[in-house]
Amino acid sequence: MSIINDNVNNDNNGKNSFSIEIDNNCVGCGACVPFCEQEAITALGNATIDTEKCIECHVCVDYCTIGAIKVITK
Ligand code: SF4
Ligand code: SF4
Repeated sequence: MSIINDNVNNDNNGKNSFSIEIDNNCVGCGACVPFCEQEAITALGNATIDTEKCIECHVCVDYCTIGAIKVITK
């Protein structure tokens, strides 16, 4: 398991050049929720990420055992 937590992919506006998204394979188990320190993930049915809260730290990606959380390059 690896945890990536950096800001090396910032573009000129200070925004990351990627986003964190949950795909349709999510089973709503909620396992990823407590690992988000921003409390950005809600798991009611398929989990969703509040993009206003998400700081794109990648931590949740490592805690979804089925790989439903993806890093999407913009
Ligand atoms: S990338 Fe970080 S802040 Fe965003 S939902 Fe995942 S754990 Fe939370
Ligand atoms: S994203 Fe993964 S860990 Fe989070 S609720 Fe969905 S299946 Fe569970």
